[in-house]
Amino acid sequence: MERTYLIKPSLDGDYPVVDYGDGVYLYDTAGRQYLDAAAGAVTANIGHGVKEIIEAMNNQAEKVSFVYRSQFSSAAAEQLAEKLARHAPGDLNWSFFVNSGSEATETAMKIAIQYWQELGRTGKIKILSRWISYHGITLGALSMSGHPGRRARFTSLLEDYPVVSPPYCYRCPYNLTPESCALECAQELELALKRTNPETVAAFIAEPIVGAAGSAITPPPGYYKKIKQICDRYEVLFIADEVMTGCGRTGTMLACEHWGVLPDLVALGKGMGSGYAPIAAALVSEKVIEPIRNGSKVVMSGHTLSANPQSCAAALAVFKYLEKNNIMEDVESKGTYLKNLLVKLQRQYSFIGDVRGKGLLLGMELVSDKTSKQPFSPEMKVTERLVHLAREYGLLIYPAAAGLDGSSGDGVIISPPLTITKREIEELVKRLKTVLEAFKQELKI
Ligand code: PMP
Repeated sequence: MERTYLIKPSLDGDYPVVDYGDGVYLYDTAGRQYLDAAAGAVTANIGHGVKEIIEAMNNQAEKVSFVYRSQFSSAAAEQLAEKLARHAPGDLNWSFFVNSGSEATETAMKIAIQYWQELGRTGKIKILSRWISYHGITLGALSMSGHPGRRARFTSLLEDYPVVSPPYCYRCPYNLTPESCALECAQELELALKRTNPETVAAFIAEPIVGAAGSAITPPPGYYKKIKQICDRYEVLFIADEVMTGCGRTGTMLACEHWGVLPDLVALGKGMGSGYAPIAAALVSEKVIEPIRNGSKVVMSGHTLSANPQSCAAALAVFKYLEKNNIMEDVESKGTYLKNLLVKLQRQYSFIGDVRGKGLLLGMELVSDKTSKQPFSPEMKVTERLVHLAREYGLLIYPAAAGLDGSSGDGVIISPPLTITKREIEELVKRLKTVLEAFKQELKI
């Protein structure tokens, strides 16, 4: 392609042009095949080119593609909300549909603030969050994100919501080990709430497993139980940002379920529509919807394309496909199989410092020295180079940050479609090994 006016991630970057997708594979217009070990951006949960989804979207399009939410509801939106209520744990029964993960976290944040207003506690307007986190690119979502690199240009427009440390066992902020710790990082929330004054705080938001800012940082057992206890004690809502972890990515509908914790609000996105259409949601518990139903009755949020029938039809078809093929049930065992193979690679390559994650959301932190855990210098652009090299070898992996400042360290996420087979996992690891060998030569280590 010669001249183009499309603003791509890098204006002088060189990107292949996609032709079509089939299962875990993508093909470009030059006929090259790529194994999508990232599911795009942890999104294509059921893989590419699934005919049933396309049919469902076509059927909806033939009837009507768009209605405005204040004029009409649609069967697709109603059925999707019902499906989510059935899959989500506890009383997370209500759905507010939006088009992206950023909109979902911002909507959850706004509903949290509205909840307290309806109860007459109008001072509860702040959100607390963690460092080394990512909740989205719009200004409200970025305000909650503890990602210095993505905040830097816009600090003048942002609120300083990140206040507490993440549960980052590989680089414990307290220099403890999971065996010796008493969940000091969770306890930090109590201190932060006391310092902030809980009567000014509406909610605490966290990613159950840290994605883009932390290459699948996974908390120790007990962490979220403690977080939820503190939130409840200080009357602060808990928002789980499950945009990356939700909809079966870790083997359960929500990752929070692994730790027996029920959030008050949840943000979903990415895998919800598996990339077939832009769709995301804020899930709202009965507890939170009740004062709104009894009060102003209107959730003060919404976008022109909220609850778009065609997007809802796509997401509904994705859930039906997950159910029909029992896909969530196999995610944990597939994830363990893949993780064990990654741990084997970790033993062979000095620059793989940590392998972590749950289900099919796995991450590798890259370091220049395994013993000291010394990161690579940012000028080396290790993540960017590795991801680029992998693509040259026909493997797509997701670039993520790692390291204590939450944006300059190196890491990648391996998160193939949940439909990946055992043989395809082996193919993925074979390609990854070739890439790592070439990378070792490139780094001269
Ligand atoms: N929250 C989390 C946990 C995410 O991983 C992302 C996207 N990486 C977002 C929010 C923002 O989603 P979107 O890019 O769809 O706006």
